[in-house]
Amino acid sequence: MRKIAIYGRGGIGKSTTTQNVVAGLTDMGRKVMVVGCDSKADSTRLLLGGFHQKIVLDTLRKEEEVNLEDFRQEGWGKTLCVESGGPEPGLGCTGRGILTSIGLLEQLGAYDEAVRLDYTFYDGLGDVVCGGFVMPIRERKAQEIYIVTSGEIMAMYTANNICRSIQQYAHISGIRLGGLICNSRKVDHEDDLIKTLADELGTQTIYSIPRDNIVQRAEFHRKTVIEYAPECEQAHHYRNLATAIDHNTDFVIPKSISNHQLEELLVKFGLFE
Ligand code: ADP
Ligand code: MG
Repeated sequence: MRKIAIYGRGGIGKSTTTQNVVAGLTDMGRKVMVVGCDSKADSTRLLLGGFHQKIVLDTLRKEEEVNLEDFRQEGWGKTLCVESGGPEPGLGCTGRGILTSIGLLEQLGAYDEAVRLDYTFYDGLGDVVCGGFVMPIRERKAQEIYIVTSGEIMAMYTANNICRSIQQYAHISGIRLGGLICNSRKVDHEDDLIKTLADELGTQTIYSIPRDNIVQRAEFHRKTVIEYAPECEQAHHYRNLATAIDHNTDFVIPKSISNHQLEELLVKFGLFE
């Protein structure tokens, strides 16, 4: 089983992209579990057709004895959906809460051979600014990372910071970067810009997803694009990304660059003219 964590700046499109990729992988016959790691608990809404009703940390606060079915719901295409949830506001560390959830899943056999999972995706780990978010990497809960970015400065800045964290933990945890996913914000020369950034970071752009309003329409109906409009162009792009991840063999320890180098890159692409 491949355990994949999706990182990237808040609002960049991690949850949307993850669920559409998961739908694409499911279409290819893969068995997938999604573990939402955001206290917003919105990592599985499009697969479930609404918000998850059995959040792990909430269930743990209420029940003494739990089993998998208390917090694992089946979503579109027989995907398995879990939402970790968050600690009580102002109390406890989100990273630790996520580790508690993953530990519980392990203990209850969610990753056992018998389940025949091909993939687990961890979505919503944020941008590694808080030490807690690094825990799943440090504790070897994921082996493979994809960073969702766009050509916007702050998204690229975050992508670079994430690479710095991966670099720091790669040797002890074995974590590797599988590539950047460009989720377009229609910045000028965006694909070339992200390709150049990927080169500098020692990785690849695994795929570029265009910006398209069909994503919002599907979201309004609480569906992935693949479920909502399976034949549309955007669904095709998500399926291509799913195939690219399924076939990926390019796993690296990235190099991070200085903020100065990052700014030079933006100047080179004429973004400050
Ligand atoms: P994150 O999980 O990184 O915080 P979300 O997946 O919740 O981000 O996405 C934020 C918003 O961006 C969502 O409302 C979603 O509809 C929109 N969005 C994401 N990707 C695209 C895209 N390729 N085209 C159009 N809208 C998108
Ligand atoms: Mg999200």
